[in-house]
Amino acid sequence: MSASEFEIIRRYFDKTISRHDVLLGIGDDCALVTPPDGKQIAMTADTLVSGVHFPSNTSAQDIAYKSIAVNLSDLAAMGAEPAWLMLALTIPESDEHWLSAFAESFHTTCLHYGVQLIGGDTTRGPLSVTVHAAGFVESHRCMRRDAAKSGDRIYVTGSLGDAALGLRLLQAELTEGESIADIDYLLSRLNRPEPRVAFGIAISEFSRCAIDISDGLLADLGHVVRASDCGAQLFLDRLPLSDALRNVYSNNGEIPESQLVLSGGDDYELCFTLRAEYENTVTKLAEQHALQVTQVGVITNAGGIVCMDANGGEIDFAQSGYQHF
Ligand code: ADP
Ligand code: MG
Repeated sequence: MSASEFEIIRRYFDKTISRHDVLLGIGDDCALVTPPDGKQIAMTADTLVSGVHFPSNTSAQDIAYKSIAVNLSDLAAMGAEPAWLMLALTIPESDEHWLSAFAESFHTTCLHYGVQLIGGDTTRGPLSVTVHAAGFVESHRCMRRDAAKSGDRIYVTGSLGDAALGLRLLQAELTEGESIADIDYLLSRLNRPEPRVAFGIAISEFSRCAIDISDGLLADLGHVVRASDCGAQLFLDRLPLSDALRNVYSNNGEIPESQLVLSGGDDYELCFTLRAEYENTVTKLAEQHALQVTQVGVITNAGGIVCMDANGGEIDFAQSGYQHF
């Protein structure tokens, strides 16, 4: 490590909140942490590469926020309580302005979620941010992709397609005819996804199967269906769509249940399954967490994912002009 890298770490990163379970944070060869008795450690990592996972003109603040949020979303999907982060940061140059904006947003986000940055790596190269997150979960409350059962209902949190539409608006600079409020909302869904941490922990009391939607509902529910060796019916008319997305679509005359909503990606909402008896429970939890939660389908015995229209008929994507998923 060069002196300037050491200086970067000291100035920008070695100053997070102190959790009581961190014996040794930034500064030594490894961090030392104490996991709580009787819990498992859930671990995940995600990399955001400039120009690939975010447009290269994304603000340092948004990149920092999102690099944490996407990892906490993975923990939420397991029902885990986030605790510790590692940050592997690759930057093209030591740009003070960029680094202080990035670090401030990173620390604010850590504080918000009660997580501590306990180490990482700093290197020079094309901009890329890898965050590794660890949290706690009791093994019997962990929500796994391979645990869906035929007859379970399929739910999603929030609304779908907003981030993908936000990206499309950015890329095409399609701002004519859209309201500023709608554009702001869609861009905030792209740059500031809210990991459903508290709801994930709460629903893990009842659900055994969840995934976070990062690649679009079809792809991610596809992982559940394959891992659980089952099928699914998806009710396309029930997909939760935001007002902003509906407004933009109505301006552009497209069908809301489009490829973008099902496969656009970057939603960072939870998709989970629940036995039918928990219908009232999920309604109550949604209210408590002030979160929209929508049943979008049911788990079936086999046959992959079948999309249904409002009349209960199967949608043949080949015939309907939808692009392939
Ligand atoms: P080593 O050479 O042993 O890998 P480094 O010189 O890379 O150690 O890092 C020194 C200390 O700073 C280590 O504790 C490491 O975890 C921490 N660190 C390095 N980069 C970051 C970063 N971007 N954010 C947080 N901690 C970091
Ligand atoms: Mg190192």
